[in-house]
Amino acid sequence: MELLLSKLNSYLPESSISKIRQAYTFASTAHRNQSRLSGEPYIEHPVQTALLLADLKLDVSTVMAGLLHDVMEDCQVPFTTLEAAFGSEVAKLVDGVTKLAKLDSEAIGQSDKTSAHIANPTRAENLQKMLISMAEDVRVVLIKLADRLHNMNTLKYLPEDRQQAIARETLDIYSPLAHRLGMGDIKWKLEDLSFHYINPERYKTISKLLASKRKERELYIATITSLLNDSLNAHEIESDISGRPKHIYSIHQKMNRYASQGKDFSEIYDLFAVRVLVKEVPECYRALGVVHSLWQYIPNQFDDYIANPKENMYQSLHTSVRGQDGTPIEIQIRTFKMHELAEYGVAAHWDYKENGLLDQKLDSKLTWMRQILEWQTNSSGAEEFVETVKSDIFGDQVFVYTPKGEIKELPLGSTPVDFAYRVHTDLGHRSVAAKANGKLVPFNYILQNGDTIEVLTTDLARGPSIDWLNPNLGYTRTASAREKIRQWFRKEKRGIHIERGKELLTKELRKLGIPMDEKEAIKLLKLRDFDELLAKIGSGETNLPEISLQLAAAQEKTSKSDPEAKAQFNILGAGDLVTTLSSCCNPQPEDSIIGCISDEGTILVHSEKCSVLAKNEDPKKIITLRWGTSENLQPVRLEITAWDRVGLLRDITSSISSERVNISSVITNQQGEGKTIIESTVFITGINQLSKLFGNIESIKGIIAVKRKT
Ligand code: MN
Repeated sequence: MELLLSKLNSYLPESSISKIRQAYTFASTAHRNQSRLSGEPYIEHPVQTALLLADLKLDVSTVMAGLLHDVMEDCQVPFTTLEAAFGSEVAKLVDGVTKLAKLDSEAIGQSDKTSAHIANPTRAENLQKMLISMAEDVRVVLIKLADRLHNMNTLKYLPEDRQQAIARETLDIYSPLAHRLGMGDIKWKLEDLSFHYINPERYKTISKLLASKRKERELYIATITSLLNDSLNAHEIESDISGRPKHIYSIHQKMNRYASQGKDFSEIYDLFAVRVLVKEVPECYRALGVVHSLWQYIPNQFDDYIANPKENMYQSLHTSVRGQDGTPIEIQIRTFKMHELAEYGVAAHWDYKENGLLDQKLDSKLTWMRQILEWQTNSSGAEEFVETVKSDIFGDQVFVYTPKGEIKELPLGSTPVDFAYRVHTDLGHRSVAAKANGKLVPFNYILQNGDTIEVLTTDLARGPSIDWLNPNLGYTRTASAREKIRQWFRKEKRGIHIERGKELLTKELRKLGIPMDEKEAIKLLKLRDFDELLAKIGSGETNLPEISLQLAAAQEKTSKSDPEAKAQFNILGAGDLVTTLSSCCNPQPEDSIIGCISDEGTILVHSEKCSVLAKNEDPKKIITLRWGTSENLQPVRLEITAWDRVGLLRDITSSISSERVNISSVITNQQGEGKTIIESTVFITGINQLSKLFGNIESIKGIIAVKRKT
């Protein structure tokens, strides 16, 4: 406690010290009969937590809440009591930490707690809860991180299964969170502590490696440092130079990365780094010049994170040079301010004089939040983080805001319609348009993390559109939205269902070029009569593409196969890239083919003999391809009627390509009055893909109609 007070004295006003004392007295009274598994009195834990918060130079309320963080959960102190004693700000922080604690299977180090096994929440739920707290007040998460760090420091007192579970959770959730908040110092501490329990063998191997090279390294670093120091002084650059071993977990990750790339791991080079801190940004670059004039730099090892900060705001220059005897060493150069940000992240942004608000208050808090929410889509920089989090925690969810700033979580691929139904059933039924970040978007827009979604409504009881249920049109992703839409249609009269069903089915079959045979359909689908089918379609009970697929399949069986359909091909060698057959040479399956990579990252397939290609293309963009015959593709001719506009053709072809469908021969015919008809042949795997393609094309701006030409 004395240590805590002396730390606080260095940056907090005198008046806050008595508040801290009160919080301490309150907490130690509340925890008086409790002890940790280590045997220490329980109060040791909240005091250590508060110390870590003081190291981050956080405001008085946060440090008080750190001292009090376990009294609600472990001592059943009610919110109102805390509020009366310390005010609502502190009480809310403690309440926030308590809510998080309920979710993670905490109960760490406490002997008198029953180990009730409540259903373990998933990591995704935990993380989601964290993000929501962070939106409310990021300080809650900072307290939680300090709490977790102290618990990790004392993990050895716990039974082994708890150690494993907690270490795993720390590595999966807490250290990524610290990373995203830019708190490098806490991040690596959490990582190394977790790694020690998760992979003790490897941990020992790497620490031995560090120890065995210690003398050698110290000598080497001392030489480098003193040379560099002299040289920087000679250039009148004031600096602070330090050599340090890298963190064990990051060495482990680097070794894995190297192993997977078949590269050698050179010990000294990869275990140690020299850090140079200077005052101003221009001095960083001058210092870099000095470094590069002293030693030979290693190509491709230079990163300018000052000009291009990492997404967690990390800034620094990184370079590797060959030192005295040719041994490589990594050198990081940054300003003192950048260093502080790299170590303390969001906490370094704190303006404690402003009573615990972030410098730019609410707005910057939201910026942080958005940035955090974007983390899984942003793969640059934090490889290790993305690896852990991308698929298994966040991969299948998207977080968006309501106009009031409330956060809504939806499955990845959700649309504004899903969002509207998630907010309120009535909002879904009345929605007529949607805006994402203030701009109108179509109802099949895919929600992006951090979007603010506004749904525009009508007072008329118009109800949802039956199209929202058609999976190929992409208006809904969530089962709950679809169920609510179906409920709405179920309330209608059967006559309306039949009428609508007839209209929908006729249109769909005409579009796909399938003749309608009522008797055949009744037999095939085992129905009483045709009206039953129509009613099912018109009420949304049956999915229209599914029906047309079945009808088409039945029809294909009876009709003779089209000789043209024998032209089966697909393209091998293009990986996942979208391929399009070039119209200049229109390559045929008997031609040798090559691919040309476009600026958009798609591949245009040319005949090897193509004269246009020979003249124009950069040889670096050419790859070899060959025909494959693994898929049974059939050519289908489309007729698309549209209002002509700039970019129309590009939108159509890219919409087709995005379904991984190859296009050949596109012919446009101007029709006058601004109308145009586009005829195109596409190669599809079946009627289902065709139906999806129609959905895609129909949603393009300006399209009047699209149908299959028979
Ligand atoms: Mn705690």
